[in-house]
Amino acid sequence: MKVPFLNLQAQYNAIAEEVAHSLHEVLASCAFSGGPFVEKFEEEFARFCGCREAIGVGNGTDALWLALAALGVGGGDEVVTVPNSFIATAEAISLCGATPVFVDVDEVSYTMDPALLEGAITPRTKAIIPVHLFGQMADMDPIMEIAARHGIPVVEDACQAHGAQYKGRRAGSIGAAGCFSFYPGKNLGAYGEAGCVTTSDPLLAAKIRMIRDHGQSRKYHHELVGVNARMDGIQGAVLSVKLKYLPAWNEARARHAASYRELLGRVSSLLLPTEMPYARHVYHVYAVRHPGRDPLLEALGVQGISCGVHYPVPIHLQTAYASLGLGEGSFPVAERCAREYLSLPMFPELTPEQIAHVAEALTILAGGGTGAA
Ligand SMILES: *Cc1c(COP(=O)(O)O)cnc(C)c1O
Repeated sequence: MKVPFLNLQAQYNAIAEEVAHSLHEVLASCAFSGGPFVEKFEEEFARFCGCREAIGVGNGTDALWLALAALGVGGGDEVVTVPNSFIATAEAISLCGATPVFVDVDEVSYTMDPALLEGAITPRTKAIIPVHLFGQMADMDPIMEIAARHGIPVVEDACQAHGAQYKGRRAGSIGAAGCFSFYPGKNLGAYGEAGCVTTSDPLLAAKIRMIRDHGQSRKYHHELVGVNARMDGIQGAVLSVKLKYLPAWNEARARHAASYRELLGRVSSLLLPTEMPYARHVYHVYAVRHPGRDPLLEALGVQGISCGVHYPVPIHLQTAYASLGLGEGSFPVAERCAREYLSLPMFPELTPEQIAHVAEALTILAGGGTGAA
C-alpha cells in the first residue's frame, strides 16, 4: 500500500463542484485582484479567528513582512524569534532591514521557550515572533507578559496553525498581529499563493492595507512606500469555500493524531508529539522523533510511505544566515530536533487503513522494541 505524505487531490475531489461554481463567479465578474471575493473572505476569516480584521495578502511571507513593517520595524532593529521554523519567519525580519535574534525552543512543545525570551531582549528589540509550529500554539501567556513589560509587540507566526487554540483563543487573536499562509499544503490552502494578517487594531490594519497596495490611501495618492502584496480574487473565493470545512478537517487531523498515538505509543525508540494542556493542536505536521531518522526515512520511502522532515537545518545554520555567526551548538534543542524530526503522512482524508499501515511499518523499522502497555 502506498501512503502519500499529502493528498490535495482527495480534498479537491470532495469540493470540486462548489469550487467550480465560485470560480465561475469570479471569472464572470472579472474581480481578479483584491475586490469583493477577497473582502468577503477577510470578513469570514477575521470572525473565525476572533479578530476585528483580516487583511488578505500574497502569501505568508508577505503577511509577516507587512505586519513587521507596519509596526515600524526597520534598519538596525532586532526581532526575537526561534531557529526551528520555516526560513520565511527570519526572511520577513531581514526584508525589513532588521536582524533576527533567536531563542531556543521548549523540548516538549517545540515552540519558543518563554524562560529564554527575556535574555534575548535588548533596547533594539522591536518585535517578538513566536511560531505556532506544526499546528500547536506557543505558550502565549508568559510571552505576552514579558512583551508587555518591555512594551514590545508580538506577531504570531500562525502559518501552520489555522484554527489552533490557546486556552480557548484562536491563533492570530492574541498578539498585535497574526500571520497566516494559505500555501496549498497548509491546513487551509488556496489554489495558488495567498496569505493574510489578522489584527484587532484598526490603525495597524489600515497601515497594512496601505503597504499591501503601494502605500496608497486612495488611488494614486501614496502616503508611504509600499509594495504589491494583494490577494487574488480567485484565491479569496476558493478560501471562502474551504474555510467552512476547516473545523471538520482539523478534527479529522486530530483523530488521525490520536490513532498514531494509540498505535505507536509503545514503540520505545519513537518520541511522539505532545499536545500541551493549554493547547488545541491542529496537526499541520505530525512529527515524531527518532535517533536514526535518516535511514528510517529512507526505509519507509522504499515501502511506499512518504514522510517529510520539517526542517532538516535550523535557520541559524542555513548558509543564508551564516553572517549571523551562530555555529553548531548555539541552540541545542532546535538542533537536536532538526536531526530527529520525522513527519508522518498527515492530511484529513487519510484512511484508518493507511494509518495502520504506516504504524505497522514504523513499529518494525524503528526498532527499540515495544514496552509493556
Ligand atoms: C508556510 C510558512 C511561512 C510562509 O508562508 P508562504 O505562504 O509560503 O510565504 C512562514 N512561516 C511558517 C512557519 C510557515 O510554515
